This record gives sequence, structure tokens and C-alpha cells, in this order.
Amino acid sequence: MFTIEKPLPRGTEDTAPFWEAALRGELRMQRCSSCGHIRFPPATLCPRCWSETYEWSLLSGKGKVFSWVVVYQSQHPAFNADTPYNVAIVELEEGPRLHTQLVDCSLEEIRLEMPVEVVFEKVRDDVALPKFRPRR
Ligand SMILES: [Zn+2]
Repeated sequence: MFTIEKPLPRGTEDTAPFWEAALRGELRMQRCSSCGHIRFPPATLCPRCWSETYEWSLLSGKGKVFSWVVVYQSQHPAFNADTPYNVAIVELEEGPRLHTQLVDCSLEEIRLEMPVEVVFEKVRDDVALPKFRPRR
């Protein structure tokens, strides 16, 4: 049978460390070595102080639901069988907001500012997606 595969992220030179960390079950983002600002998405310059130096810092993986939508009509055929499903923005404790999906809860349970924690869904041998579940 013909199946359409879901599109997966393709790492670039700048984003590869993010995806490599995810595969190890770690949420890492660039932390500016000069001012401490967390850069997301990854960038060559800090948007706050213009420094080029940074480290890939391990984050807490904790945050809260900033916003979400429920998709009833998929815009890509590979997601048709998943409807209805959520697409969420989680605000991490460290500040950045991440587009993601909430798991381990029903659509009816999702609430604004609901405390969540990261989990990694390995969708292929070389790709793991950071998703978030409620902190109970
Ligand atoms: Zn900085």
C-alpha cells in the first residue's frame, strides 16, 4: 500500500546540535557566553548583545503551555489519520517558546499555562522530536 511519510526536521549546521541532543534525550539550546541569553532558534549572533560566543546549554525541560490549537482538518495527507491533534507553543522556564505537540493528555485536558515537561519521541533511528506532557 502507498503511504505518505510525515515530513521530519532536516538539521542544518546551526541546528544539528539541537537535534543531536534530542536524540540523546536532552533539550539543549545556545546560551550566550557573554550575557546568558538563551538563543532560539539557533543563531550566529546573540540578539541581545551581538556576541558570537555560546555554549549548548542543557535546559530543565520544564515549561508551561503558552498557546495551542486543535487541528481537525490536516493540511498534509500524512497527518490525516492523526486528526484531531494539537499543535502547541510551550514557554520554557528558561524563556524560549517552542512549537511542539502535547502528549499523554486528551485535547480536553489542555489548559493555558498548564505545567509541562519535555519527552522525546524517537520517530526514526536518527530523529527524536521534543514533545511535552503534563507535569502531574
Ligand atoms: Zn548575549
